[in-house]
Amino acid sequence: MNYDAIVIGAGNGGLISALRLQKMGKKVLLLDAFNMPGGVATSFVRGRFEFEVSLHELCQYGTKENKGTVKKLFEQLGVDDKIEMVPLNETFHVLTLDDKLEYTFPIGINEFTTKMEEYVPKCRESIEKLFKLCEECEEALKYLEEHKEIDEKELKEKYPNFLVVSSYSVDKVFKALKIPKKAQEILASYWVYLGSPMSELSFVHYMMMVYSYIKNQPAIPRGRSHEISLVLLEEFEKLGGNYKFLSPVTEIIVSDNKAKGVVVNNEQKYYAKVVISNISPNVTYGKLIKQSELPKRAKQLVNARTLGARGVCVYLGLNKSVEELGLKNYSYFIYHTLNSDKEFERMKHLKGDNLVGVVLNNALNDASSKGTTILYLTSLMFSDVFDEVVTKENYFDLKNALAENMIEIFEQATGKNIRDAIEEIEIATPLTFAHYTNHPDGVIYGYMAKKLDNLLPRMMNMQNEDYIKGLFFAGGFGPRLSGYSSTYLSGDMAAKKALNYLKEEEK
Ligand SMILES: Cc1cc2nc3c(=O)[nH]c(=O)nc-3n(C[C@H](O)[C@H](O)[C@H](O)COP(=O)(O)OP(=O)(O)OC[C@H]3O[C@@H](n4cnc5c(N)ncnc54)[C@H](O)[C@@H]3O)c2cc1C
Repeated sequence: MNYDAIVIGAGNGGLISALRLQKMGKKVLLLDAFNMPGGVATSFVRGRFEFEVSLHELCQYGTKENKGTVKKLFEQLGVDDKIEMVPLNETFHVLTLDDKLEYTFPIGINEFTTKMEEYVPKCRESIEKLFKLCEECEEALKYLEEHKEIDEKELKEKYPNFLVVSSYSVDKVFKALKIPKKAQEILASYWVYLGSPMSELSFVHYMMMVYSYIKNQPAIPRGRSHEISLVLLEEFEKLGGNYKFLSPVTEIIVSDNKAKGVVVNNEQKYYAKVVISNISPNVTYGKLIKQSELPKRAKQLVNARTLGARGVCVYLGLNKSVEELGLKNYSYFIYHTLNSDKEFERMKHLKGDNLVGVVLNNALNDASSKGTTILYLTSLMFSDVFDEVVTKENYFDLKNALAENMIEIFEQATGKNIRDAIEEIEIATPLTFAHYTNHPDGVIYGYMAKKLDNLLPRMMNMQNEDYIKGLFFAGGFGPRLSGYSSTYLSGDMAAKKALNYLKEEEK
């Protein structure tokens, strides 16, 4: 059967690509190896609890009055009014184990600045300068997205500071703005969400996320991320899109350096002018394309990039209310210190002693039945240390020991007793994520962002990474890097590239 486009993988990126192309009148086939849509954007049920697999907070969503890019995208695709989003009322709550620091920040630029001044007297001026710079960067990025041909003179005149900082790391710009060290460290609390320390992360990439959380108010869907994934799939189907689950793609058919279709389950062939891959280039190039058809540059690219964070997640259903447990906040970032470089090094080891804890009921008070609480603990690792030590024999002991430690660390940092209230517990390891996503080493954050191989250079260079005609990438391994907003936007970007390609082919 012939299609205009085949999308491999119904994760965030794949779902958006498929829906955009179908909405533009193309004939699309969406394939996924698993039995439901969303990839990690889904939920699961244990006993009387429905657990979110991955989403802590969606940035770039915003409100009716102050729309973020993801809300605008959902509106364009006709799905926004079908999803019930609940805004979050705090940015972050950070705790340190070594020196027992604790900070909580509200939403809103002014409110955030005032709170920072309370914690770090005399920092107001530098924080105001920082947010002014963020505003300019946000506008410059909008300009870059809206203009295919960039007028360098105009860009320089309108956004001079953006051009200066666009290739700098976060810590360099923080220092240049003379932000006091303590405030710099507090501002770094979110680094773990992008999976690289402040010295490696691009200022623009990191601060656009933080600025968006503070200014646009993050949100979560009432029905977990599964609600978004289902709505996207339903809209795709309503527009006539075809999808097949339990359909692993085992080969991408390539000849004369052009993608021509796919093979499912080593049997069924489907043909299309365009193939969009929502899975990693490691698997796409390494396993799905005949090596004789693979350009050398594609192999080099895969080898040049470093895999991002792996994670261990503990999903807890507790038989006490948040009030009984004494848990007042939604997100708890727990580190040993606020020095991201030190923490990054520590997280190359298998300890599970750096955490993000999320108390779902503090955003959705009816997330579970009355008198109960849902708590997620996530610990990231920045090396393949899990793979190095895990064996068939020690797997269960290893994951139980990591979970034990994560619960203990959460209790130690918050001073609350969790253990006695555990009714349900589920543990996911890099093996679990590898099983469900097919990503190498069970990586959950795509490729690591590093110095010059960061968001902006990847976006500006992305046309040069289209090594096979008609094959495009969407999702966490794509040029926009990982995260919910990034993967939704990357799905849209891949679809738009595919539409341009189809137009050229039709000429
Ligand atoms: C625990 C955790 C917490 C997170 N927290 C946040 C957060 O708070 N905020 C945030 O913004 N981001 C967060 N993220 C990151 C975010 O969830 C991901 O970046 C994003 O969901 C990845 O989307 P994707 O499009 O890359 O698809 P993926 O979810 O990676 O899905 C890929 C899909 O491809 C399918 N597939 C694989 N191989 C094949 C094949 N051969 N044939 C057919 N189908 C195939 C898989 O079945 C899967 O459905 C978190 C991630 C995790 C795991």
